[in-house]
Amino acid sequence: AAQEGFDVEDIEGALDEAGHGPLPVLAVVGRPNVGKSTLVNRILGRREAVVEDRPGVTRDRVTYEAEWAGRRFKVVDTGGWEQDVLGIDASVAAQAEFAIEAADAVVFVVDASVGATDTDEAVVKLLRRAGKPVVLCANKVDGPSGEADAAMLWSLGLGEPHPVSALHGRGTGDMLDEVLKVLPDAPAQTFGAGVGGPRRIALIGRPNVGKSSLLNKIAGEERVVVNEIAGTTRDPVDERIELGGQTWTFVDTAGIRRRVHLTEGADYYASLRTAAALEKAEVAVVLIDVSEPISVQDTRIITMAVEAGRALVLAYNKWDTLDEERRFYLEREIERDLVQTQWAPRVNISARTGRHMEKLVPAIETALAGWETRVPTGRLNAFLGELVASHPHPVRGGKQPRILFGTQAGTRPPRFVLFASGFLEAGYRRFIERRLREEFGFEGTPIQISVRVRE
Ligand code: GDP
Ligand code: GDP
Repeated sequence: AAQEGFDVEDIEGALDEAGHGPLPVLAVVGRPNVGKSTLVNRILGRREAVVEDRPGVTRDRVTYEAEWAGRRFKVVDTGGWEQDVLGIDASVAAQAEFAIEAADAVVFVVDASVGATDTDEAVVKLLRRAGKPVVLCANKVDGPSGEADAAMLWSLGLGEPHPVSALHGRGTGDMLDEVLKVLPDAPAQTFGAGVGGPRRIALIGRPNVGKSSLLNKIAGEERVVVNEIAGTTRDPVDERIELGGQTWTFVDTAGIRRRVHLTEGADYYASLRTAAALEKAEVAVVLIDVSEPISVQDTRIITMAVEAGRALVLAYNKWDTLDEERRFYLEREIERDLVQTQWAPRVNISARTGRHMEKLVPAIETALAGWETRVPTGRLNAFLGELVASHPHPVRGGKQPRILFGTQAGTRPPRFVLFASGFLEAGYRRFIERRLREEFGFEGTPIQISVRVRE
């Protein structure tokens, strides 16, 4: 009776939708103003899968979930990234390099009405080196007269240019069909169950929070030298490091090691690198510098980790610098700015003195355990039944939506599908999430809840 109004196919469909493993990643790269953002919006259409509507979680997104011809994948939207801080060429190259690294396939967008520029050629070199599948999008071909411009782009040596008008939608379907042909079913950088090996940690945080100091503290200084020699380009380096009696992989450490402390481009590099590292990691350790007020940049990075669906540990670094007064304000800042991630394990460390280094591994293990928690369907529905009985959804317009049935569709992070008789308000969903956490733990992990409504 709890499943009234739904048949098995409904449920299986929803599970397919929400329970998908890691999705392959498509990066859209190209010079500024060639139409990347317009194309990404076109790809997302109106069907952008918004799984949750927690305030503050939807901003500053880098990757989106998309679907075409029944296949789901992630799109890395590089269009919104700051492009001018380093000069156009350096920015475009860096952007492309990071996006390509994180991607399983690439759409390279060129403005056909302008033709190939030197910057385009530079990106082509990066694409060749990366060896990932590339689909060439000849954009701004708004009508048949532009087809000849598109054909000129054969000269780039990337195969057939696909004439597209991202603005009007012309040709985008054909191009996406082409993309699906080259996009693998699952990401290469998968951390799926079958892969095994050491757990993968991303050490992230804004510039100067102490990432390299921490990495050096736990790995030993001597490796820095080795990497300086090996890492001639911006290639990410994943390092295996012993910690707490286990081996861990710290992903994408090259940038941390190299101490790229650009005053102007720092933000830009930080967000690119953070996105790339998160793609590859299972757990994010976000460093926060307690000697300074918690900033928008800190919360943005935490949001990126949550949005990426990674397990999360918050490491408050430079604890050695705290005096009474600063400590007082810090706790207030945490209450004010970081309530959304109260569920993340917290460690108060000093990369300089080595304070509480031994607490890192237990915190990481807690977060990973939460990330992999599975609640049996029977237990979940017993819990939901009680919750709905004791705290029914408020009546709206004479109707009272009810949760009929729920199931956990996946883990890493936990994903739930609720079947309901009507739309559930954001406040009620947040309430459900809070209660789920109280009941089942989920320490250190985001939770995704999607609701299937049967009118
Ligand atoms: P991005 O910087 O690469 O993300 O480029 P945008 O998506 O912001 O587009 C830059 C400009 O080009 C905007 O004014 C768009 O409206 C315009 N644009 C994008 N796609 C097309 C297209 O297919 N045809 C035409 N005519 N203009 C386009
Ligand atoms: P990154 O940009 O995040 O890699 O930061 P760094 O590791 O380069 O650190 C930035 C600055 O903070 C350097 O001057 C470090 O010596 C200093 N620092 C890092 N960790 C600590 C710490 O725990 N305590 C103190 N007092 N300073 C630290």
